Amino acid sequence: MKNLNTPYFMINEQALIDNLEKAKQLKEISGAKLVLALKCFSTWGTFNTIKPYLDGTTSSGPYEVRLGHEKFGGETHAYSVGYSNADIEAVKPLSDKIIFNSLSQLEAHYENCKDSASLGLRINPEMSVAGQDLANPARAYSRLGVKQDILNLDVLNKVDGFMFHMNCENKDVDAFIRVLDHISTTFTEYLDQLTWLSLGGGIFFTYPNYPIEKLGLALKAFAEKHSLQVYLEPGEAIITRTADLVVSVIDIVENDKQTAIVDSATEAHRLDTLIYNEPASIKEATEGATYNYIIGSCSCLAGDQFCETQFEKPLQIGQKLHLLDSAGYTMVKLNWFNGLKMPSIYFERINGDIEVLNEFGYEDFKNTLGR
Ligand SMILES: *Cc1c(COP(=O)(O)O)cnc(C)c1O
Repeated sequence: MKNLNTPYFMINEQALIDNLEKAKQLKEISGAKLVLALKCFSTWGTFNTIKPYLDGTTSSGPYEVRLGHEKFGGETHAYSVGYSNADIEAVKPLSDKIIFNSLSQLEAHYENCKDSASLGLRINPEMSVAGQDLANPARAYSRLGVKQDILNLDVLNKVDGFMFHMNCENKDVDAFIRVLDHISTTFTEYLDQLTWLSLGGGIFFTYPNYPIEKLGLALKAFAEKHSLQVYLEPGEAIITRTADLVVSVIDIVENDKQTAIVDSATEAHRLDTLIYNEPASIKEATEGATYNYIIGSCSCLAGDQFCETQFEKPLQIGQKLHLLDSAGYTMVKLNWFNGLKMPSIYFERINGDIEVLNEFGYEDFKNTLGR
C-alpha cells in the first residue's frame, strides 16, 4: 500500500460486506426491513456497497433526509426531534415516512403532510437497554417520544406507524426480547391497528456470536401477532469494525508516565471516545506488554487522550498506529477544533484498490467559518 499521509480513516469494504451479510440473514429470517441510520454513518462514497443489502435510510435531521434520498434511495424515513415549518417543506417531497417526536409536532404538521407521506409517531416505551444515561432515550425527563399516559386511540386517525428507539449497543438478545414483549402487551390496541412499526437502532446483531436467528424469529412472531411491517434502524451494527483511524506518533513526552502524542484528537476526530469515556483500541498494542504509553492527542485539551495501553517495543516517532473500530459516530462528527488537519477518508475496495472519498485542506477549515 502506498504511503498515505496521516491522519486518515480507512474503511474496509470486505468488513462492511461481512456485516451486511448478517443484516441480510436477519432480514430473511424476520421479514423486517432495515434502514440505515445516517446519523451514525453518512459516508456516501460507500453507499453503492451498502444499497443492495438494505431498504433505505432514516434520519435525525433534514440534511440527512436529503442525502438519503439523493445518494442511497430506496425508502427514505424522516425523523426529527423538532421540525420547523421550513424543515417540513424541505423533507416532505423526499420522504416516504415522516415520524414526529411529539403529539404537538404531529398536530402542527399533520394537515400539511398527510397527503405526502405515511406518518408516524415516536413512542417512549419507558424501558430501555442502553449502557449510559447520556444515550438512554427512556431516561428521566426524556424529551424523546410520547409516553403511554398521554397517548390515546385518536392518534390512530393520523398515523400509520410508531417508532420506538430504546437500545444502544445492546448485545443481549433476551434483554431485547423483554422490551419487545413489553411493547407488545403495553401497546396492543395500537399495534393491532398500525401498518408499520419501527424498533429503532442499537441492536448489536453483528457482534461476534450474536444469535441472529433468535432475534429474527422473535421479530417475525411479533410482526405476525400484530400484522404489521417491522423496521429496524441500524447504525453502528452496520459499520462496526469496518474502519481504522490511522495516526502517526509525532512526539513522546514523559511526566511520570510516557505519552505518545499523535496527529489527531478525540475532541475533533473521534468525539465519542471523550463523551462516553470509552478508550480506543489500537491494533499495534499488546495488553500487558512491557512498554506503557498514554496515546495523547494533538489538541490543547488537557484530558484529550485516546487510551492508555502497552506495546512489545518502545514506540518510535513517525510510527503509524491504527485506532480500531472508528467508523461510527466519527466522520459525521468531525470538527475543526484547534485547526487540526482533518483526517482524509479512504475506502479499501475488495480488489485492494484504495479509493479517495475525501481529503481536506486549509480552505475547508477557512470556508466553514466565513467566506
Ligand atoms: C441513533 C438512532 C439510531 C441508530 O442507533 P445505532 O445505535 O447506531 O444503531 C436509530 N434510530 C434512532 C431514532 C436513533 O436516534
